[in-house]
Amino acid sequence: MISEQNRQIASVITHTSNYYDNEHLYVHSTSNYQGPSIVSLNKRKHEDIWGGELGDQICLEADSALTSTASSTAGRRTKKQRLEEVKTEGFQLIQSAFGGMIKNYYKKNLTLLPHYQLFLDEAKPEIIKLLTELISKDSIKFNLKLEGAYKIPHTSVIENRSFKTAARTLCMADNDLHAILEEEFNKLMHEEEVYTSKGSGFSIDSVNGLLLSVYRYKPIGGSSYIKLPDSIEAHKAIINVKNNDEMCFKYSIMAKYVDAPNPSRISHYLNAPENYDFSELNYPVEVKDVKKFEKRNPGVSVNVYGLKMCEPTCNVDKIHNRKNNKEYIVVPYKICDQELNDHFDLLLFNDESTNGDKYHYAYIKNFSRLVRSQIINHRATMAICKRCFKGYIDEPNKPDKAVRLAEHKRQCVLNKPVAPIMPTVGSSLRFQNWGNTHKHDVVIYADFEAMLVKNTDDLAATSSEKKLLLHITMNLCHLFTR
Ligand SMILES: [Zn+2]
Repeated sequence: MISEQNRQIASVITHTSNYYDNEHLYVHSTSNYQGPSIVSLNKRKHEDIWGGELGDQICLEADSALTSTASSTAGRRTKKQRLEEVKTEGFQLIQSAFGGMIKNYYKKNLTLLPHYQLFLDEAKPEIIKLLTELISKDSIKFNLKLEGAYKIPHTSVIENRSFKTAARTLCMADNDLHAILEEEFNKLMHEEEVYTSKGSGFSIDSVNGLLLSVYRYKPIGGSSYIKLPDSIEAHKAIINVKNNDEMCFKYSIMAKYVDAPNPSRISHYLNAPENYDFSELNYPVEVKDVKKFEKRNPGVSVNVYGLKMCEPTCNVDKIHNRKNNKEYIVVPYKICDQELNDHFDLLLFNDESTNGDKYHYAYIKNFSRLVRSQIINHRATMAICKRCFKGYIDEPNKPDKAVRLAEHKRQCVLNKPVAPIMPTVGSSLRFQNWGNTHKHDVVIYADFEAMLVKNTDDLAATSSEKKLLLHITMNLCHLFTR
């Protein structure tokens, strides 16, 4: 089904009319496309697009959705329209979609430079100026598409061709745009080299233009202070620093060593020694960048956990952990294979009041206390596996809980981190696939009979346990059936 949200998105894309059935969205555009096309947005939600890899794909498809391949009829037509539309020097905004989330800029080779390198050299300062302006407002992803035409040897055919780069993330902290663009240009030139070496004798006829696609990108990373859900706060297992900037990752690391009555107060952190190398990080820190921090600081390992709201489970004693009949559980986001001497557990959670857009890191000072109620219903001290949340308590006649946990970890590290979620209250399982069962060749029914005889020997015993009767074997019967 097409959701109302996707209908709205489609409307933004085209600025024109659209219609839809249950599976597809058909779009009429008045600008640079003739006839309807299926835009596969029906399964894409707004947050899916901006939260993950899909954004990269959309960035790459932003142009190709309308052009398909450069050598196809539709591609040639769109390229021709683009070349006709742009009549001025420099990059021109030719397309805007998703309410300005995606923008396409095009630079036409108006000075008819004969080689790509000359054209790219001319475009470079203009791209830097444009990107600098864009990343001053938002993190973005961008990609380049270089267009040209080639002579096919021994024919009069001219073939359109384009070369693309993958979407690349840029944020305010990326200040060496020269080097970044040089890398991207090299990728384009490498692709061009591969193309010309494939078709023997292909030679460049003309350099046409460069398309710069940009989309605003919202990384999931920690930012300023967010209050913890009450149920999680109640465990008193977390230091949640009250910062106003976007450096909560750094403060959460420093929190381990703050020895003061109110460790969440930001004043403890602003002038404190950092003790760690945070130099490779961009703020807000994304989960995928935590590895960079580990690399810069030998002997340091970091786990990142998140919160998940789910239905009440059979693991009771969570009345305090419920909100509107639902409960928060801790789930693993990024777990290291081996915990090193200087280890940190962080919680990355979002703010529901801002539609979940804003995320914040906090330091987990007592992991066991935080997740214990997810595992057992009493308050025993537990040794808990941080990958799969299996917990061990001290039990008579068993090795120490720490020893059993160490044994478990050796096996657990071979598996992916998981958070076990118990079945919801009132749910039940029932075996139904009787058709998948195997019939045994033989079934044996056995019955064993005994006779009870009074125990005369033990009657005089003083023990509180007296054997009054004895079982004397009488007979045994087996019934074999096929
Ligand atoms: Zn485990």
